[in-house]
Amino acid sequence: MKRFRILFSLFAAIVFIGGSVYAGKADDQPLEKLMQGNARYVSGHISKKESGGAYRKELAKGQHPFAVVVACSDSRVSPSIIFDEGLGNIFVVRTAGNIVDPIAVGSIEYGVEHLHAPLVMVLGHESCGAVTAAVESKSIPEGNIGEIVKKIMPAVKKAKASLKKGDNLIYASTIENVKDVAGEIVKKSKIISEEMHEGKVKVVGAYYSISTGKVEAVALK
Ligand SMILES: [Zn+2]
Repeated sequence: MKRFRILFSLFAAIVFIGGSVYAGKADDQPLEKLMQGNARYVSGHISKKESGGAYRKELAKGQHPFAVVVACSDSRVSPSIIFDEGLGNIFVVRTAGNIVDPIAVGSIEYGVEHLHAPLVMVLGHESCGAVTAAVESKSIPEGNIGEIVKKIMPAVKKAKASLKKGDNLIYASTIENVKDVAGEIVKKSKIISEEMHEGKVKVVGAYYSISTGKVEAVALK
């Protein structure tokens, strides 16, 4: 069983490395670490986390997260839980539909430039309410929620244009949205695009299945 888990983690890491398009020379180890954590979460063999007073005192001195995860606010998609990581290891930016605006991009930049996280993962997920709203909306709703729907609409349009028979439109739109958001982060952030080209950071896309617990790679191009 242990051997299987190791093999699974290795396979997942290879699939991911193959699927990451914005690959610089950045080390692949952070991604492997996330995927190994997800394999532990899926198998139910979660690790013991540091949480005592001594560890909290250490954390109060500073943080050194090894990854930035841009995830949906959905209560079923907590990155630290699904990647089986403790406090201080994942810098998380969450919005409905895992979309970004200048404040979210600034938060990602903080994680990359100031905290030196070498990996940015944009994580879409199964049964995303924000993506579903964008797929089902006949028109853009008014107010702040409308801003979320409006932002996801181009992904829905792309998904519809390339939809093949038997494809699921909500799934396809979620994948397109992950690609759009990853592209937007690189486009809107000089800091991230420069660090990416210097090989200091890698931007990857991923999809979380709520029902299986698995995180899979999303090829960004
Ligand atoms: Zn969602």
